[in-house]
Amino acid sequence: MKRPLAVIAALALAAGCGVAAPSATPASDDFEEDVETARVLTEGFWARRLGGSYRPVTDFVAYSGDNGPACGGGVAAPDNAFYCPDGHFIAYDETWLRSLWKELGDGSVYVIVLHEFGHAVQAQLQTSFEFNIQQELQADCYAGGTLSALVAGGELRADPGDEEELLTNLAAAGDPEEDWFDPAAHGTAEQRQRSFLTGYRSGVEGCR
Ligand SMILES: [Zn+2]
Repeated sequence: MKRPLAVIAALALAAGCGVAAPSATPASDDFEEDVETARVLTEGFWARRLGGSYRPVTDFVAYSGDNGPACGGGVAAPDNAFYCPDGHFIAYDETWLRSLWKELGDGSVYVIVLHEFGHAVQAQLQTSFEFNIQQELQADCYAGGTLSALVAGGELRADPGDEEELLTNLAAAGDPEEDWFDPAAHGTAEQRQRSFLTGYRSGVEGCR
């Protein structure tokens, strides 16, 4: 039983979510600036939220293709972004993220960067999950909660079309099937959008 995506998109519109550079500065079309803005604002949010117990990531690494940093004996995959608990850093394939940014808009950067910081926070809070998919959906929820706080605080402002853009990005990253037992599962498009919206509406405290 699936809810039509249009309904979910409409709910998001009602919630008034969106991302862009702060209105005090000219809107940026620059990819690297969007990535850096997403990082700085997200770390600022979690530092305020968790107070002195927040540990900023040690590094935020751009790589290309197969040249990513190793993580706990594993190698970085191309076309990916990830949080590495062993070393407490985030890395992203810059070529891949830039192509998403071009194709799908700046919302792709916000969805992905905020999601990876969600994993960094899970590691700090030592949250445990029965299934990987729960961890992924909570990271989506954290991304939504972070985003709404940044918009509410005036650190980001909405541009027309941002709402659909964000949800399109989540849908594009969804798994084709619901599978709670697949260790690589992130959730279907619908599950990911729902988790993101839960966070957007209720804040990160609503992310279980
Ligand atoms: Zn994830």
